[in-house]
Amino acid sequence: MISFEEITKIYDDGRMAVSGLSFEIQKGEFFVLIGPSGCGKTTVLKMINRLIEASGGRIMIEGRPVDDYKLNELRWNIGYVLQQIALFPHMSIAENVAVVPELMKIPRAESDKRVEHLLSMVGLDPDVYRDKRPAELSGGQQQRVGVVRALAADPDILLMDEPFSALDPVTREKLQNDLLELQRNIRKTIVFVTHDMREALKLGDRICIMKDGEVVQIGTPNDIVHRPADDFVREFLGDAAGREGFGASALTAEDLADPLAPDSRLVADGAVTVRADTALGELLWHFAVEERLLVRRGDEVIGLLDRDKTLRRMAREFQEGGAAE
Ligand code: ADP
Ligand code: MG
Repeated sequence: MISFEEITKIYDDGRMAVSGLSFEIQKGEFFVLIGPSGCGKTTVLKMINRLIEASGGRIMIEGRPVDDYKLNELRWNIGYVLQQIALFPHMSIAENVAVVPELMKIPRAESDKRVEHLLSMVGLDPDVYRDKRPAELSGGQQQRVGVVRALAADPDILLMDEPFSALDPVTREKLQNDLLELQRNIRKTIVFVTHDMREALKLGDRICIMKDGEVVQIGTPNDIVHRPADDFVREFLGDAAGREGFGASALTAEDLADPLAPDSRLVADGAVTVRADTALGELLWHFAVEERLLVRRGDEVIGLLDRDKTLRRMAREFQEGGAAE
């Protein structure tokens, strides 16, 4: 849905902010960009809606280069949420949220209905909040309004640049949960920037880890936790994995299995097979009776699990970080 093809950005001062970025974000995916300050996350985000023009390569949305879209068309179809949303202080919440739908000339009745629906979905009762001014709301509530405003025109894509990082931890956690719930209902393509690994592991369908303007690793939270590409990723993970419940108990049969040579005789031996995504808890039940398990994805046998080896591996994982669970 959004694809980066060899994207490079060199700012006017000659600084190379990002280089050679190539990746694809799927429709309906919650895609998290993470990395240290200055690694190019905001630059990536702003090139999607052309607040910043790329210096080389191209970005495609739905198979069309972003340069082909009219700017209005592009911006209206892409919601944008910043760390500090700037609500218009003299306008009511409802008016603030209806700004883009109005520009787009969406019929008032339709946009009102949508706005009320969205406000309730983020936990702001429209009857209570519709006519309030921004100053009457807490920081967390204002940020919720920011999310609603970005979604008011029903865009396909939502860009979020560290939207929760100015909030206290409790409020932040609430907004993360709300956003996940909201996403279950609306299924937008979300590109979410953070520098907080716990947040990334909690929210992302996939996580893209950046360093010095380049991609270090892209994978599911499970991939990143259990197969970090290098020491940088490992260090960046820190203890976030344990704290987000990605310790040993989140391992699956596929994570633990040894690859199996295609010609292995075991298949014919009628060994018990388990699905690739079988959770560790269930594997333990099998190991109570089986010494070895075959791991299958679809019709294909992809690996072998050995009881002793698996238990040794688990013991290691628990020692290293699982204790935090
Ligand atoms: P992040 O969002 O990951 O903190 P940015 O995308 O904001 O990183 O910045 C990436 C790099 O580009 C940084 O080194 C930053 O200093 C530089 N940069 C960002 N914006 C500009 C600009 N307008 N002009 C020059 N350099 C910039
Ligand atoms: Mg930034």
